[in-house]
Amino acid sequence: MRRLIPVWLALAAFGAGAAQTPWQKIEHPIAGAPSAIGSFANGCIIGAQPLPLEAGNYQVLRPDQRRYFGHPDLLLFIQRLSNQVKHLGLGEVLVGDMAMPAGGRFSSGHASHQSGLDADIWLQTPRQRWSASQLLKPQPLDLVSANGRGVVPRLWQPQTAALIKLAAEDDQVTRIFVNPAIKKQLCLDAGSDRDWLRKVRPWFGHRAHMHVRLRCPPGSRDCVDQPAPPPGDGCGAELESWFLPAKPGTGAPVKKTPPPLPAACQALLDQHRVLP
Ligand SMILES: [Zn+2]
Repeated sequence: MRRLIPVWLALAAFGAGAAQTPWQKIEHPIAGAPSAIGSFANGCIIGAQPLPLEAGNYQVLRPDQRRYFGHPDLLLFIQRLSNQVKHLGLGEVLVGDMAMPAGGRFSSGHASHQSGLDADIWLQTPRQRWSASQLLKPQPLDLVSANGRGVVPRLWQPQTAALIKLAAEDDQVTRIFVNPAIKKQLCLDAGSDRDWLRKVRPWFGHRAHMHVRLRCPPGSRDCVDQPAPPPGDGCGAELESWFLPAKPGTGAPVKKTPPPLPAACQALLDQHRVLP
């Protein structure tokens, strides 16, 4: 069941669909009180803010792509997490894609990240700050073994698990997506303190970064939250199912037309005279 994902979602998730979207042509945030609109995979944002690029506790990857916008709650979360990581001496937080200035659909790479409440945080915390050229062409650290069944022991660091746990324990965070092999390792490492594992969800890819999702902010009336993850730490049968051979017919994505934009997002595109 979980492998039946709509084809447009699959294309976006795996970077195969590279057509321009109207959202990419919007170069600046839409003025207004911050409001995340729609769902994470079909939405937009008014009043987004850029994550400051000059910061002592984190670094922004691929700043030339200008995907460092988000709802103020997302900026605050990144600053909060980075401060904790720094305070604990775990290293430097590397921030990957957030959202475009008005949110919306990327041409490739992501199905979500549309409403300014999602951020990719890389699963490495360097001790030394990266140079400008390293940030422009960052080298991901693939933590998952070639057969996908576990993490690479040589690369798996306690601070990586600590980083994911800190993010999961944040009140604003509702879900964190990581590769099933990473979730498996977290399940093995966790002792009796396991509540935070509920938010950590296995998903395709995500071998070198975690995808963090925040709850809808109180002032965002048109924001659509996801239902909470099922109770429990998610370390049992659900996780195991990711390591079973796919049943015939379950691997192919189901063809489905993308849903219509939320009215407020369509209005925003219309106002900005951006042709689809
Ligand atoms: Zn992501």
